[in-house]
Amino acid sequence: MEKKTHIAVVPSPGFSHLVPIIEFSKRFIHLHPDFHVTCIIPTLGSPPTSSKAYLQSLPSNIHSIFLPPISEDAIPKDIYVGKKIQLTITNSLPSLLDELKSLTSKAPLAAIVADPFAFEVLDFAKELNTLSFMYFPASAMTLSFFLYIPKLDQQISGEFRDSTQLIQLPGCVPIHGSDLPDPVQDRSSQVYEELLERSRRLCLIDGILVNSFVEMEEGPIRALKEEAERGKFPLVYPVGPITQIGSNQNGSDSESECIRWLENQPPNSVLYVSFGSGGTLSQHQINELAFGLEMSEQKFLWVVRAPSNSTSAAYLGSSTNEDPLQFLPEGFLERTKEQGLVIPSWAPQIPILSHSSTAAFLSHCGWNSVLESIQHGVPLITWPLFAEQRMNSFMLTNVLKVGLRPKVNNDSIVERDEIAKVIKNLMEGEESKEIRRRVKDLRENAISAVKEDGSSTKTMAEVAQKWKSFSCSIYK
Ligand code: UDP
Repeated sequence: MEKKTHIAVVPSPGFSHLVPIIEFSKRFIHLHPDFHVTCIIPTLGSPPTSSKAYLQSLPSNIHSIFLPPISEDAIPKDIYVGKKIQLTITNSLPSLLDELKSLTSKAPLAAIVADPFAFEVLDFAKELNTLSFMYFPASAMTLSFFLYIPKLDQQISGEFRDSTQLIQLPGCVPIHGSDLPDPVQDRSSQVYEELLERSRRLCLIDGILVNSFVEMEEGPIRALKEEAERGKFPLVYPVGPITQIGSNQNGSDSESECIRWLENQPPNSVLYVSFGSGGTLSQHQINELAFGLEMSEQKFLWVVRAPSNSTSAAYLGSSTNEDPLQFLPEGFLERTKEQGLVIPSWAPQIPILSHSSTAAFLSHCGWNSVLESIQHGVPLITWPLFAEQRMNSFMLTNVLKVGLRPKVNNDSIVERDEIAKVIKNLMEGEESKEIRRRVKDLRENAISAVKEDGSSTKTMAEVAQKWKSFSCSIYK
């Protein structure tokens, strides 16, 4: 029997952090069936039902283990979501090390591949005599930002958002400081200090796999490779787009309701509205969005979540049990019953994006949603909420030009008139023709990158070869 090369992958807590690294593992195993993957999963509270259901259908050479969950009482309640994730990982390190040691005692381990928030586990690589890799489930531009932040820290004084200079990341279109990710928006914060420290340590690992592809982010990928050649950064491997294949519904009732409704709509007529697995709007913003959708007179399919003043309130499954539909303006459902469908909390995004009635996606610009939209050739209205989403929005609207971004007023609200205007522009305006053409081209490139001879498939083969050679060199 052929001996398999073994790797361990470590996601950070939360369904939307688990999916990318498992989808990477699935794709990797599909291309290189002579590997075996063990996925070791840290969790905060009990594992999400969505994660458990999703793990039911793994191929036989991917094995998953949930670590003992970290109690929610062990993590402060009112902290930034990234910090919550980070603390869950830190508290899980002893059990992570135990699992890794138990793995290496049974079979040689070629590499540990960690999610960015699970980064600390890579410190064990030397002790376990294995390679340290990161799977970066976001854009190359965001990766570039994380690697360059110590340099930006030296170059720019004061808050980035107040800088009159645009921020120049190598190989990227210059970006306004206010569009940089959340953790750097307060440079006096501990989160910022920790990020700087993590960025410095990141340079010491063996490689970074990034969920992007050369044809989409040529500039930043080229610049990252050049820096790696100069020995400044770890080697960077663009292996995307990797997204969930097929249906990702949380309940088949909502899937069939959405698809049945879409079946009855004209082709290319529906705006799909969703803020990812945890994005939330304030009550005021829900009202404006509801009126904006109504005023646009376009068909819509809206995934509504209960309001909160924190944009990431429902992240990590910490949503309320309240019925989200009760927060819609009075009479809205009745007035729009011929125009739209409102689904509480969760909808089957991929079947919706792949449906011929779907014309556009109003999205919070989580990277998975961005890639899924591009893979289906669906243009976007970008509505970033938190994390690196403003940067993704910038890339979509200013660099790739496959979306439109509504303006926010001085109170950080997108007003109904603006919403209706942008929807109309994207659904039927002159400008939308060019946007649609560009997103279709990008879709073709996304498909090509993962074909047998595609750029990302070749990169994946390079990685497999590296891991195999390493495994052979130490365990022969
Ligand atoms: N998703 C879904 N239905 C929903 C909301 C989200 O299927 O109602 C999926 C979506 O297809 C994507 C993931 O959840 O794969 C969300 O990831 P993303 O990076 O876009 O955003 P995040 O949830 O991390 O903010």
